[in-house]
Amino acid sequence: MSEHPPAQSVAALGEQGLLSRLSGILSRHTGGLPLGTGDDCAITPAATPGNRLVWTLDTMVEGTHFRFWPGTHAGDLGRKLAATNLSDLASKGAAPRFALVSLGLPGDADVALVEAFYAGLDEELTAAGAILLGGDTVRAPQWCLSLTVVGELGEGLPIAARHAARPGDGVFVTGTLGDSAAGLAVLEGGGSGHEFLVDRHLRPTARLAEGRALVASIDRLAMMDLSDGLACDGARLATASGVRVVLDGRLVPLSPALTEWAAAVGRDPRELALHGGEDYELLLCAPLSEPQVRALLAERGIATLITRIGTIEAGEPGLFLRSDGGDDRKLEAKGFEHFT
Ligand SMILES: [Mg+2]
Repeated sequence: MSEHPPAQSVAALGEQGLLSRLSGILSRHTGGLPLGTGDDCAITPAATPGNRLVWTLDTMVEGTHFRFWPGTHAGDLGRKLAATNLSDLASKGAAPRFALVSLGLPGDADVALVEAFYAGLDEELTAAGAILLGGDTVRAPQWCLSLTVVGELGEGLPIAARHAARPGDGVFVTGTLGDSAAGLAVLEGGGSGHEFLVDRHLRPTARLAEGRALVASIDRLAMMDLSDGLACDGARLATASGVRVVLDGRLVPLSPALTEWAAAVGRDPRELALHGGEDYELLLCAPLSEPQVRALLAERGIATLITRIGTIEAGEPGLFLRSDGGDDRKLEAKGFEHFT
């Protein structure tokens, strides 16, 4: 990230030294727990009877999932690692509770960057109601960051599984799609400006309140977050539910910033909205109309855009785009594929 050697490297500070630097952040939250930071395990009070625990883990590897762009802040990296995990919990309507982090760091990593990363991670988790309990630090050839978050799903709430979509359901998305992929393209091109798009890439927000409101107000729904692109993730939902997800491409919501940027650089904004990754919006299927879903969110004080983009149909499982003439074209996933 910096071209200059760090003022202090993690190798020079050592593991215990690094842990004591980071423990200031941890001990702010863990003091009241039966067993807090600095032991083999953390011990928390038992979950409320009837509640279910919801677990997720996400990893970000330097060079694979992120790069240190000139001018990027290590705190954003921590916030994004938190947001990607929180987004998974959002897709099940869970309330985030506790988190554990694994830091794989090169020996010459700058301690100041590690601290900034940790502070950003803690800030995002705290804002979501989760407590960072600690974790593990290891030496690694490049930055390798892994976070586990546990959330709670309240008694009686439905499980919004990917396999829960049924023929006749409407297909909905929150927010706008393709912004993050455009933001990444701006960064890769070394361009400036387009703050909204770059922000959507570097500083995504998990739709926690939206996920909880949807699960609390709909009896049966299928839901997932969009991390690898609508085409890729939508096909996963189709396969899990054994249904056809039929989209009307014209309904996929685009931000004015994306439309404007795409026109200026000669890109198709719908292509980015269908295949771009890291939107961290929610994709959901439920037996409701668009006005009904919007009303459910509005009743809970949530003004986030939610748009019906298609319908669930019976038939060969897959994600299809319906043309004006009524023909369906199967969408091949071109989203982010791991291990390719
Ligand atoms: Mg996910």
